[in-house]
Amino acid sequence: MTGKKLETPIKQILPGRPVSEVISAVGHRLRGCRRVHTTIDRREHDMTTTLRNVRVFDGDRLLEPGTVVIDGALIGNPGPEGTDVDGRSGVLLPGLFDAHVHLLGPDDLDRLAASGVTTALDMACWPPPHVDALRGRVPDIRSAGTPAIGAGGPHARMPGMPADAILSAPEEAEPFVAKRVAEGSDYIKIVAERPGPDMLDQATVDALVAAARAHGKLSVAHASSVAAYRTAVQAGVDVVTHVPLDGVLDDETVARMVAEGQVAVPTLSMMEATVRGRGRPGEAYENARDSVAALHAAGVPVLAGTDANSAPGSPSPVSHGDSLHHELALLVEAGLSTVEALRSATSLPARCFGLGDRGSITPGLRADLVLVTGDPLADIAATRSIERIWCAGVDVTR
Ligand SMILES: [Zn+2]
Repeated sequence: MTGKKLETPIKQILPGRPVSEVISAVGHRLRGCRRVHTTIDRREHDMTTTLRNVRVFDGDRLLEPGTVVIDGALIGNPGPEGTDVDGRSGVLLPGLFDAHVHLLGPDDLDRLAASGVTTALDMACWPPPHVDALRGRVPDIRSAGTPAIGAGGPHARMPGMPADAILSAPEEAEPFVAKRVAEGSDYIKIVAERPGPDMLDQATVDALVAAARAHGKLSVAHASSVAAYRTAVQAGVDVVTHVPLDGVLDDETVARMVAEGQVAVPTLSMMEATVRGRGRPGEAYENARDSVAALHAAGVPVLAGTDANSAPGSPSPVSHGDSLHHELALLVEAGLSTVEALRSATSLPARCFGLGDRGSITPGLRADLVLVTGDPLADIAATRSIERIWCAGVDVTR
């Protein structure tokens, strides 16, 4: 999706302040999307909004038409006062997660927000002040900060990759992780590549996973080949992102993920874009899709993530926001039911990333909500029919 500048600013919530103290920032009008807005009247958060006549997907299943109350930044309990909104029999979803994005700047956030993404999990972004500048806005983000990579792979040649991202021995794992934690990384990103000279070897990936765990952080490994995926799984990484293009995951690897409680973020949107962009011999999108089918059939939690990025000249462009809806469709195509696809972008990522304050529609949780006019349980494409979006109770569409 291409965005163009809008006069209207998007809402911004300042870090460390109550969400009721919202100021204006930059925003965009997005082609085919709602306009996302803007300054908020502080009084908005002193009031309650009552959504009536909505069918609620509570993060797990669809409930009978009912009433949901937004009380400030949270989902509240029904009360007499407040503004009424007629949901017109639409479906109310928890705000959507994209469990794998990259963030260059506020434009990326605006596109995510306009597509109903209220939580975005960044999987590599630097330097730390840049990450911090993107926090506390809409969507709410978490970030890996600087990733761990080997000197020999393509990631080491990405423009601007900081020197301290490169590791060459297991002993460097602990200082690397300690530095990320000091910088504020929310989890540790590890780039596992095909075994070879100057790639992160098994011992170094093992040490990174162990160091992350010792610091109380989740580890997330990039793995887009069968061999890299095995390295990541064998290391006991918490989350593996991407799926191989050069083959389908073998039963042993999948069984190990089930046994270890590992989680997959396949980024089918990126795998599709990669095949389209570089088309290497021996690589096929079908391998990615069939790996997702195998993971899902075995019971590995599969999360919706896109690898959305806006790097200029990227050979595999994936648009922010719009791609999340495409990802849901690809997950359904790969064998998830529509309900499972919705969970993959709501309750499951909240649980897997320890964000217990969101991901379902329950009193006391953050009022991250998306009202759609269609029925995404009947047709997953209906997640695109967005009527209203709230992020921490802030109506970003009004
Ligand atoms: Zn990525």
